[in-house]
Amino acid sequence: MIPLKDIKFVLLDMDGTLLDKYFDDYFWEHLVPEKYAEKHCITFGKAKEELLSKYKDHEGTLNWTDIDFWSKELDLDIPALKEQIKHLIEVHPHVENFLRMLKRHKKKVYMVTNAHYKVLDIKLKKTEIGKYFDKCITSFEIGYPKEMMEFWKKTEKILKFDKEKTLFIDDTAEILKTAKNFGIKYLLLKTRANSKKQDKPINDFPFLKDFKELLTQDPSFHKTL
Ligand SMILES: [Mg+2]
Repeated sequence: MIPLKDIKFVLLDMDGTLLDKYFDDYFWEHLVPEKYAEKHCITFGKAKEELLSKYKDHEGTLNWTDIDFWSKELDLDIPALKEQIKHLIEVHPHVENFLRMLKRHKKKVYMVTNAHYKVLDIKLKKTEIGKYFDKCITSFEIGYPKEMMEFWKKTEKILKFDKEKTLFIDDTAEILKTAKNFGIKYLLLKTRANSKKQDKPINDFPFLKDFKELLTQDPSFHKTL
């Protein structure tokens, strides 16, 4: 149980947490291999194999989320491809109710994302969630991904949150581990990041399947909806 009344700052990841990761998975696992195969005259299977190994090399680094890096590396216009399928960007169920509830209760709400600012831009234009945030921080402007302690040290200086009164929700356990080591008190793992994929079981953190769980647990919060 997360005591929402003791929380003053809410830090939220974007992809997989607030937004359905189906968009990103479809993009990197289907659309990019398809275009890469066409470009290099190889089969889809071969393209996927090559790409998965390239992705692995850059996982957990700033390159991973740098779409300009991937445009160069793969010789494909990644931002243009994202634009092409932006109709697949979806907000997870009850996210907007949750954000609205946080604002009504005067919580400071921050987005902390590894997403590239160009991707953040496409996603905030496509959805209605941007207006609920006091600030959005990308790992790009910080210079480190969320998996690294430096990200949190620098972000704390900018946002001035109190670790003891902060809730952070993310769909990546690795990132939550760093946040835990940094000292953020309340952590939740968002499961069902991709609505069309089964989750691997993870037992390291309390988890949240659906944001309605946070809306219903505290009656005083619920009343105001
Ligand atoms: Mg995420």
